[in-house]
Amino acid sequence: MQSVDPARAVSYWLAGGNHSRAPALSGAATADVAIVGAGFTGLWTALRLLETDPALRVTILEMEGVGFGATGRNGGFCQASLTHGLENGLRHYPDEASLLHREGMANLRAIVDFTRANAIACDLEETGELTLADHPWQVDEFREHVELATALGERAIFLDGEAARAEIHSPRWTAGAWHPDSCVMLDPAKLARGLARVARERGAVLHEGTRVTAMERVAGGVRLRTATSDGRAGEVRARHAVVATSAYSGWLRRLQPLFVPVYDYVLVSAPLTPAQRAAIGWRNRQGLADANNQFHYFRLTADDRVLWGGFDAVYHPHNGVGPAYDRRPATFERLGTNWRRTFPQLADLRWEYRWGGAIDTTSRFTMTMGRAMGGRVVYALGYTGLGIGASRWAAGIARDFILRPDSDLLRLRFVRSRPLPFPPEPFRSLAVETVRNELARADANDGRRGLLLRALDGLGIGFDS
Ligand SMILES: Cc1cc2nc3c(=O)[nH]c(=O)nc-3n(C[C@H](O)[C@H](O)[C@H](O)COP(=O)(O)OP(=O)(O)OC[C@H]3O[C@@H](n4cnc5c(N)ncnc54)[C@H](O)[C@@H]3O)c2cc1C
Repeated sequence: MQSVDPARAVSYWLAGGNHSRAPALSGAATADVAIVGAGFTGLWTALRLLETDPALRVTILEMEGVGFGATGRNGGFCQASLTHGLENGLRHYPDEASLLHREGMANLRAIVDFTRANAIACDLEETGELTLADHPWQVDEFREHVELATALGERAIFLDGEAARAEIHSPRWTAGAWHPDSCVMLDPAKLARGLARVARERGAVLHEGTRVTAMERVAGGVRLRTATSDGRAGEVRARHAVVATSAYSGWLRRLQPLFVPVYDYVLVSAPLTPAQRAAIGWRNRQGLADANNQFHYFRLTADDRVLWGGFDAVYHPHNGVGPAYDRRPATFERLGTNWRRTFPQLADLRWEYRWGGAIDTTSRFTMTMGRAMGGRVVYALGYTGLGIGASRWAAGIARDFILRPDSDLLRLRFVRSRPLPFPPEPFRSLAVETVRNELARADANDGRRGLLLRALDGLGIGFDS
């Protein structure tokens, strides 16, 4: 049951349910660990810290509400991959790809088990993801991809064009690759609110409506200065802080070179009628995506609405984020047009919800984790559009930095290395725009990548969402 006017909702997911806010912080407080941000990274970090040391005093500071950022606005594809796909993992971490694949699969299992053990009702469906090819030249790539996944021990099924079209009724598809076990579909806001509930039950203190405005090193730890939306000041002194602010991390200057926030947009329809449902097939309810550089992802919600997102990936200069970018009529229009081209039989589908959210993109498409301020501050960000599952794993690394410095995982190159930095403005805007245009050109040119993209590929640099 939805309780907020769709036109005003931050997202379809966040519009649902009755959620009362935790009190904001005013005055002074202390904690062993202060976490900035109550998205998946911050919430999982609280839980993983408390799982290792239940007596730890953990405080979470969130400027808006739980899941306000990307966590409450995404597609709800909870993937096993920690590396933004097998191929990207092999390209950047050839020696660790197999281990990272196993870690990712185990991490996804742990998420599913956690929701069950803690009665988090988040409409989780173990349908897997089906990627769809819509060009003849992609068919061989799909075959190779399925072989690679199988070699790594994952169940993966190749569908030829006819089988793909029988599964999802659109004339566009030329092949499909179905991964039944490496992705689950869920309602991200219900998951985030469930994680917040369990974290508080285990002793974490949560302050919503509390923005961290500054952080400084002090004897024995860090001091975080805070402000509420009605102007009340506060501060938390903590032995450690974890920065879990994702695409909003521009407030910490040292993180600025590591990521660009990229806006991604989503439409959600009215619930499908039985006739509309029959006209599209989709009996297995998988999460779906096409395989182009500018790609769409789409899925069914628990109440049989279609969520249709992606394609445009928009960067606003100076790492721009904020409510001004949440609605983009030109992109909503384009998404609607592309839907009608893909599913002409459902051209009259009515879109009720429209929104955007910022994705924290790194130049290698994988998370970056590290420490600052003499090891007192830990950060984790950069999931590049695949953070629902990966954030739990990153939270384990944040926990290890603080409580288990001997952990083997901290020695992985995946953890220790940094992505190549993005240049400062104005070159940053120019670079993102140029690469975006080149990617669109490659899509229009049978996937053939121009000189610039090939040069960047050689350097291991890219742009994705
Ligand atoms: C449209 C869209 C679709 C996506 N689809 C998928 C998908 O299908 N599958 C997938 O795996 N991933 C997807 N993602 C990415 C995924 O949502 C993110 O990787 C993940 O949610 C990141 O979680 P986070 O906690 O790191 O960041 P966020 O959820 O952004 O959380 C950061 C939090 O920090 C708070 N904050 C920021 N600054 C401050 C401050 N100074 N003080 C206090 N609080 C602060 C923010 O309010 C926010 O709540 C998508 C993202 C978008 C935007």
